[in-house]
Amino acid sequence: MTKKMKEAALERLEEMYPEAKAELVFSNPYEMMVATILSAQCTDRQVNKVTPAVFARYPDPRTMADAREEDLYPMVKSCGFKSKAANIIAACRMIRDEYDGRVPDTMEDLTRLPGVGRKTANVVLYNAFGIPAFAVDTHVFRVSNRIGLCRADTVEETEKQMTRLIPRGKWGNAHHWLIWHGRRVCSAQLPKCETCGLREYCEYARKNKTIHE
Ligand code: SF4
Repeated sequence: MTKKMKEAALERLEEMYPEAKAELVFSNPYEMMVATILSAQCTDRQVNKVTPAVFARYPDPRTMADAREEDLYPMVKSCGFKSKAANIIAACRMIRDEYDGRVPDTMEDLTRLPGVGRKTANVVLYNAFGIPAFAVDTHVFRVSNRIGLCRADTVEETEKQMTRLIPRGKWGNAHHWLIWHGRRVCSAQLPKCETCGLREYCEYARKNKTIHE
């Protein structure tokens, strides 16, 4: 796919999802970090169901740092993995002890926190701090590669190629366009190519003949 076509595909995505934004509910960097850790392999809807009670009981990193895993885990159990509760508490202990109780705002510092990988750090940087960042989750990885915006085997390589293609000021928005498209149209099992607004650009649709002119 030529660079021009990639840019046209991105413009189309922007037209299709002008209102795209984070679907996790949060009101500060701490809440964004906790919600994003919980969202791994779990739907945003499910995370949004449990976080109000979690944030009411543990309103900031200091209170969360004092939490006991046996109290927190039952509250977040429906989001899977026991390790998430342990990681949230451990991350907040580090934030309390090493960052004066404030969630750090750099990739380097965020990824030191237990349970915070590069994807979570990028989500927090953009959504909570407004710092340009392009997070690659399962939807972004699948959709970017299917369309042909990049050709990458790993999320790291996808991030590298996509941040070269997309202007820095649009990294965060582009991440949301691709997630929304992945959730609503280009699903893993059954992409709706016939009605997809990107079909004229998409390499996957061309290769698999999932559209019929
Ligand atoms: S044409 Fe099909 S594979 Fe391509 S982006 Fe649209 S839904 Fe996904």
